[in-house]
Amino acid sequence: MATSFDHFLESTRTIADLDAANAVLSWDQETNMPPAASEGRAEQLATLSGVAHRMRTAPDYTGLLDELRRDGAGLEDWQQAAVRETARDIDRAAKLPEKHVSTLARESALAHDAWKKARAASDFSLFRNNLRALVELKRREAELVGYGAHPYDALLDIFEPGMTVATLRPIFSRLLDGTRELLAKVKESGTTVDSSMLHRSFDAEKQMRFSHDTVAALGFDFSAGRVDLAAHPFCTSFGIRDVRLTTRIYPDDLRSCLFGLIHEAGHGMYEQGFDPMLARTPLASGISMGIHESQSLFWENMIGRSHEFWTWAYPRLQATFPDQLSDVDLESFYRAVNVVEPSHIRVEADELTYNLHIMLRFEIETGLIDGSIEVDDVPAIWNKRTEEYLGITPENDAIGCLQDIHWSFAGFGYFPSYTLGKLYAAMLREAIVKDLPNVTTQIESGDFSAILEWLREKLHRWGKRKTASEVISDICGATLSERPFLEYNARKVARVYQTSV
Ligand code: ZN
Repeated sequence: MATSFDHFLESTRTIADLDAANAVLSWDQETNMPPAASEGRAEQLATLSGVAHRMRTAPDYTGLLDELRRDGAGLEDWQQAAVRETARDIDRAAKLPEKHVSTLARESALAHDAWKKARAASDFSLFRNNLRALVELKRREAELVGYGAHPYDALLDIFEPGMTVATLRPIFSRLLDGTRELLAKVKESGTTVDSSMLHRSFDAEKQMRFSHDTVAALGFDFSAGRVDLAAHPFCTSFGIRDVRLTTRIYPDDLRSCLFGLIHEAGHGMYEQGFDPMLARTPLASGISMGIHESQSLFWENMIGRSHEFWTWAYPRLQATFPDQLSDVDLESFYRAVNVVEPSHIRVEADELTYNLHIMLRFEIETGLIDGSIEVDDVPAIWNKRTEEYLGITPENDAIGCLQDIHWSFAGFGYFPSYTLGKLYAAMLREAIVKDLPNVTTQIESGDFSAILEWLREKLHRWGKRKTASEVISDICGATLSERPFLEYNARKVARVYQTSV
C-alpha cells in the first residue's frame, strides 16, 4: 500500500506546485504587474489551470486514487485524510470539462480587468457583460456538479464543504433579528461616539511600519512571509513557508492599513501553522473559507479591537503619531475603533453591521444562480436592500455593487464565509477564554503567544485533516451557532455605548 500512496503523493505534490505557480502569477497580477500585461496573464493563468486540471483528471492518477479509496484502510490517519480531500477535489473536477475550466479562468481574468475599470469609472455597464458571462458559467457549473435542494449549494460547497442554503437561511434570519435588536439599543442609547481622530493625517510609511510591527508581535512570521500593497487586501500562500499579505493605506483613515493587515495576518498565521508533514498536499490548507475567516476575524476584531489589546498597543500608537493622538485617551480611542454605524463599504463595516452586507450579497447571489434575479437588475436590488438593511442609499455603483472583488473572479458562494467566520470566531473565543484564564492580562502586556499556541494546537496544525463541524465540535462541544457572536456583541455594545447588556 505504501508504494501506491507514495506514487499518489508524488503526483499530488506536482499538482500542488502547479497551483502554487498559479498563485504566484495571481499575486503578481495584484501587486506588481503592468496594466498592459493583463491579456497575456489571462492566457498564462488559463494554461496553468488547464495543465493542473488535466493532471487531476488523468486516468493513471484517478486510478491510483480509486485504488487507495478502495483498499486504503491500512493507511495512516493523515494519509486517509489526504485521499479523502483529494477525492473531494477530483470528484468535482471530473464533472467539469476542461473547456469549462479554462473558459472560466480566461473569463475571470478578463472580468477582473473590466471590474477594475468599471469600479474606477463607477459604471456598472462596463462590467455587466462580464458578470453575465460568469453567472452563466457558474450556473452551468452547478448543473454539472449537481446539488440537493438549491443550485447555490453546489457553489457554497467549494468554500464551505457541506454547507447549504437551507442551513444558512435560519441562522442568518436569527442573526438578522439579533443584530436589529442590538442596533436599536445603540440608537436608543443616544450616545454618539467620536471617531474623527481616526481621520487626521497619518503618514503612510509610519502606518505601514506600525502595522507590520503589530502583526509581527501577534505572531506572523516574516521570515516565511512578506507584505505588499494591493487595491483590495488579501492573503495568498505558495507554501507553509511562503505566505504573502497585502494591505492598503489611506493617510486620512488609520483603520484601513492596520486592521486590514491584522486581518490578513490572521489568515497568514493559519497558513504558517499547518503541520509541515502536510506540505504540498491538499491537507496543507484551511478547512474551509469560513474557518479561514474565523482566524482573520478573530485577530482583527476579537483581539485587535479589544480593550486589552489597545491597553498594550495604544501607547505605542501614540508614540508613533504624537502630533495626531496625544490629546486622545485610551478609552476614547477604544470606543472610536468600535463604533457601530451603518456604512457602504463592506470591508470597512463594523463588526455588527458587517453581516448585513453579507446577507444582501447572499440574497443577490442565490437569486442570480437560481435565475430569480437578472444581472441587469443587480444595481437596483443592491441599492434597495442596502436601504432596507442599513438605512442608507449608495450614491454610485463604486460604493455599491462594484465595491467587491469577488464577482470579478467568479467567487459566487464565498460571501457567506465571512459571516460563518464571525460565528466560528466567537465560538472559538468563548473556548479560549475558558481554557486560558489569564488571557486578558497576557494581551494587556502584549503577549499573544498562549493564544497562538492554543490555535496552533487545536486548529492550525490539523490543516484539512478534520472537517469544519468536527473541529468546532471537538473544540467547542457544539454545532454552528449565532449565540456566542450575538452575546459577544451585546457586551461590546454595552461597553462602547454604555447601555445595559
Ligand atoms: Zn479574510
